[in-house]
Amino acid sequence: MEFCDECGSMMHGDDGLWVCGSCEFEKPRDAEAEAAMTTTHGQDTDSGPVDMSDVDDEEIGPTTAARCPECGHDRARYEMKQIRAADESETRFFTCTECGHKWREDDH
Ligand SMILES: [Zn+2]
Ligand SMILES: [Zn+2]
Repeated sequence: MEFCDECGSMMHGDDGLWVCGSCEFEKPRDAEAEAAMTTTHGQDTDSGPVDMSDVDDEEIGPTTAARCPECGHDRARYEMKQIRAADESETRFFTCTECGHKWREDDH
């Protein structure tokens, strides 16, 4: 049973559509069915969380010559991150290999 979004009248099924008997308003039935499917079945949780515990910390990212503002060490891991896709280019995030201090490339 489906009621019209526009006028509230009862709608009848017509192929892939619900069609309002009063105002001719139409909406697809497939979308309705798909929405119901995803809410009832949800996601397959078999895979579970990825175990990262055996990943060597040194292998997380490439290192580069960068001066740590915290301890003065000249080597840091870095990763590229897009802060806001629309108005900013990629920013490099550094992590000091010596003390673990994190900072952004444009923090000076
Ligand atoms: Zn209607
Ligand atoms: Zn440091």
